[in-house]
Amino acid sequence: MATTGTVYLVGAGPGDPDLLTLRAARLVERARLIVHDGLVDPAILALAPASARRISVAKSRARHTLPQESINALLVREALAGRDVVRLKGGDPLVFGRGGEEAEACRAAGVPVEIVPGISAANGAAAAAQIALTHRDASSVVSFVAGQCKGLSEQDWAGLAGKGRTLVIYMGVKTAPQIAEKLMADGLAPDMPLAVIENACRPQMRVLRGPLAALPDLVEREAVNSPALIVIGEVTARADAVVAALVETAA
Ligand code: SAH
Repeated sequence: MATTGTVYLVGAGPGDPDLLTLRAARLVERARLIVHDGLVDPAILALAPASARRISVAKSRARHTLPQESINALLVREALAGRDVVRLKGGDPLVFGRGGEEAEACRAAGVPVEIVPGISAANGAAAAAQIALTHRDASSVVSFVAGQCKGLSEQDWAGLAGKGRTLVIYMGVKTAPQIAEKLMADGLAPDMPLAVIENACRPQMRVLRGPLAALPDLVEREAVNSPALIVIGEVTARADAVVAALVETAA
């Protein structure tokens, strides 16, 4: 019987291949089988040997995402057949990446798992837009929340945003109007500054800013597309000059 392979849950970072960890780059460079998401930049996939099998489990308009159970089953099946699997995910595997579910499925099947951290979109976008997620004079709390439609109304964000706090919203472009409404209903000031960072750490990056009340308009007027992050808090205003320059460059 073949020795069981290992499943490597690898964070590919926010885009730029230079932001891979050395461990991630080494695993990709010697991979024979890569299972990847849509957010993984093609330049990163290009680091794998030409002979490596690449399986995309990306969302596409034409086809629904492979259900999570099928992805779990695929990883387990390949590993039990003796193959190491490099499971590449955008950002960090354990931040809105379903890495936890995949690791659980592997462990339940007796498949060894190694998790390689990646630079999450929040860290990549903050660095690229020069927004300090924490700042001794402006913020000592950072929260990462998921803003997608499913479950948005049940989420309790009260207290996560406001003075001295930074709120980072993943997957919030489509629901921007509901997000702004929800936060203002929770008492957040309509003039609380925010930044929207689209395609962080990629050549086409855009950084947009405005007050909370203007978020829905900003997203619509600028036709903001996924992937984008919304960062809300005073820290975003401290990067004014830099952000203005970045916006101009992108325009
Ligand atoms: N595991 C990933 C998050 C996956 S959820 C991580 O740690 O970053 C997908 C969401 O991440 C997108 O909807 C978007 O909000 C955010 N995202 C991922 N890559 C991004 C990028 N390059 N720029 C801006 N946001 C990004």
